[in-house]
Amino acid sequence: MKPRLRFAPSPTGYVHIGGLRTALYNYLYAKQNEGTYLIRIEDTDQTRLVEGAIEGMIEAMTWAGVMHDEGPFIDAETRMITEKGDFGPYIQSNRLDIYKKHALDLIDKGHAYYCFCSKERLEEVREHQKAEGLTPKYDGHCRLLSNEEIQQKLAAGVDHVVRLKLPENRVIEFNDLIKGTVSVNTNDIDDQVLMKTDGFPTYHMAVVVDDHYMGITHVVRGDEWLISTPKHLYTYEAFGWDPPQFVHLPVILSHTKKKLSKREGDVAVEDFRRRGYLPEALINYIALVGWSPEDGEEIMSMETLISKFSFDRVSKSSGVFDVDKLNWMNNHYLRQHDLDQLTDLAKPHLIKAGFTTEADFDSQFDWLKKIVDVLRERLNKLEDLSLYSTFFTRTDVELEDDEAREIASLEHISDLMKLFLEKLEAAEAVTAEWMKNALKEIQKETGHKGKNLFMPVRVAITGQVHGPDIAVVSEILGKETLKTRVSYFITHFCK
Ligand code: GLU
Repeated sequence: MKPRLRFAPSPTGYVHIGGLRTALYNYLYAKQNEGTYLIRIEDTDQTRLVEGAIEGMIEAMTWAGVMHDEGPFIDAETRMITEKGDFGPYIQSNRLDIYKKHALDLIDKGHAYYCFCSKERLEEVREHQKAEGLTPKYDGHCRLLSNEEIQQKLAAGVDHVVRLKLPENRVIEFNDLIKGTVSVNTNDIDDQVLMKTDGFPTYHMAVVVDDHYMGITHVVRGDEWLISTPKHLYTYEAFGWDPPQFVHLPVILSHTKKKLSKREGDVAVEDFRRRGYLPEALINYIALVGWSPEDGEEIMSMETLISKFSFDRVSKSSGVFDVDKLNWMNNHYLRQHDLDQLTDLAKPHLIKAGFTTEADFDSQFDWLKKIVDVLRERLNKLEDLSLYSTFFTRTDVELEDDEAREIASLEHISDLMKLFLEKLEAAEAVTAEWMKNALKEIQKETGHKGKNLFMPVRVAITGQVHGPDIAVVSEILGKETLKTRVSYFITHFCK
């Protein structure tokens, strides 16, 4: 049997980076084993619905390249949500009848019961238990109702839920692929609410029914669900179904070792996309938070990840999200990327940084390409282009720091730059090649070479001691801007 795995997000408005990793691990395992990876939308908590969240989620996953085989998709023409696959609907709010029918089925079989307890009563019970030093838990009050009482209450339209009827004092044990053997006594578990007063199922009901009917073979999810799994297993048993294999992933922590949350910076896939991280970098990085291949390789394409991934190398303990490492990796992929494509990707950032405008982008493409090319080795993300917003456009020179000021005050810089200006004026156009030759000539004519030549020229042109290749920078600046800058430097900084 080919495996079937699923990612089951709740549409809360964005895809958490931890969710991306969960989706990815599901995807990798499915692809490695020629199985199916599907997306199911878990929207049974109607109080948490966010407009457009499903569309946003699909878009983020598509961008990341973690493409599902079944589930909701966005139709290219109508932009509406459509579904693909034989196991739908894939959005839980469209499956309410299925849950209702199955809840009734469990009641009939004696594995679930109606509970009419009011909020106030439940609160009282809880307070009482707490006062006695007990773990708060439903006291089973409605388990004892007679059939007559139940029918009366139902007929009178009393608000109710449906609860799972757990057997007393039974040990439920299962083997998690990462956590190992987990065992829990039913005495320590609540009679889980399966259906809520609003007629919607709880997550616990829907997840079991859907995983069963969608033929899920491996449930791979965050370990916050580990404590719920015994309830799910009992529900499978109550229905007479075989449970899937469970795999609970350790959480991702922030650098302060807290749960990675919005309060501590970017956590949404959409944020990383907006800042100009490349999907291949984000995927490569996030795959390694809590997993590593046997050979210790770090740079891996999706294909390599698919071939190397295994659950038995997922760490038992939580991983830390290290933005520096992500930056390093993104820089690696930025340097490798096809330049035309990268320039297109950089468009919003180039516009924002003031290099170009929407209207000029196409006509300036070749020039912008050079900018992207010479800067990319210095970028952690495309958003960092803004750090260079005036680097190519300003006409004056500002000395960046003491080191630059020191070089600007060198004895020989004035003669050097005057000679350079002469050559500039005589040049037909400035290319990187021209620049290299000009520097060679100046070296010959003045005897200054190496640092003594290159540093002064760089500082006179950019005001900075360090920076991208000065020959390429000069070509990008072009003859006129170069002339303006060098003249400015000579009048303002040379004695
Ligand atoms: N809807 C749940 C979540 O967003 C899914 C848990 C599961 O995969 O079973 O965390």
